[in-house]
Amino acid sequence: MAPDRSVAEEYLRREVIAAALLRRADETGGYVSRDELKAFMLPDGSVERLVDPGGGGIWNPSGYIATLAIVTSPDGPYPDREIEGGLLQYSYQKGPEGGKNLKLRRAMELGLPVIRFNKVGPNAYLPIYPVFVIEDNPISREFTLTVDDVLRSIPVGHELTPMERAYAARVVQQRVHQPAFRARVMLAYGGLCAVCTLKHPKLLDAAHIIEDGQPGGDPVVTNGLSLCKIHHAAYDRQFMGISPDYVVHINTDLLLETDGPMLRHGLQEMHGRALTTPTRRQDRPDPARLEQRFARFQAAN
Ligand SMILES: [Zn+2]
Repeated sequence: MAPDRSVAEEYLRREVIAAALLRRADETGGYVSRDELKAFMLPDGSVERLVDPGGGGIWNPSGYIATLAIVTSPDGPYPDREIEGGLLQYSYQKGPEGGKNLKLRRAMELGLPVIRFNKVGPNAYLPIYPVFVIEDNPISREFTLTVDDVLRSIPVGHELTPMERAYAARVVQQRVHQPAFRARVMLAYGGLCAVCTLKHPKLLDAAHIIEDGQPGGDPVVTNGLSLCKIHHAAYDRQFMGISPDYVVHINTDLLLETDGPMLRHGLQEMHGRALTTPTRRQDRPDPARLEQRFARFQAAN
């Protein structure tokens, strides 16, 4: 067993691991596979295991003073729930009294950030970092987590003002929900544009069919489309529509224009093309939502 590092060394090590993880996730559209996490290669060539081989939610590698990473899975044994103030509750891992939870408590005491892996698919984990443990609730057997440095400084239980509440909601939206939506959409579409099949996740967005905040605008895969930047913008500005039968339509005026290759190949030639949809039927775009959105495209044309 390796000797424990100092807290400062351990903090730095976490920063290095997290930076490499986030870079890797950026290449795929937001997730890292479980196989990669079992032996994750760091920039200095060293290899680090980032998940518990036993499948537990809390990963305490030997030589580490405190928990390095936790897994949350919406359908697994370690779900977490959101409470007011942009905070997340994380259940104790079952097992002997204390057990693996002791080192997560240690992360709280030392102020060491942990990596949170959100399971977004059978073999896909979205990394979020830094995540801080700010409270331990032995009665409900839960830890309270925050993804934000500012929220970390607000005492738990403090009644938030409407402005603070709006800030907390926005932080969770940006740091937790939006990345999870993106990762799930990228995963469903295999990292390609549903319109032109451009296969480059760094040039792709997870577009909403019904906009966020509108009724039906939930961050679910069936309300999403994987679109390249140009097709996302064209969709949002009504230059392009997608009918409920999964066919691409280009604005009539745009079809009649003459311009360079981007207009011709990138837009005009997409007219009438069949949308490339996810392999899994349950991930395909919801026709009712497409219809609602398509009506707006038709009205604008
Ligand atoms: Zn495209």
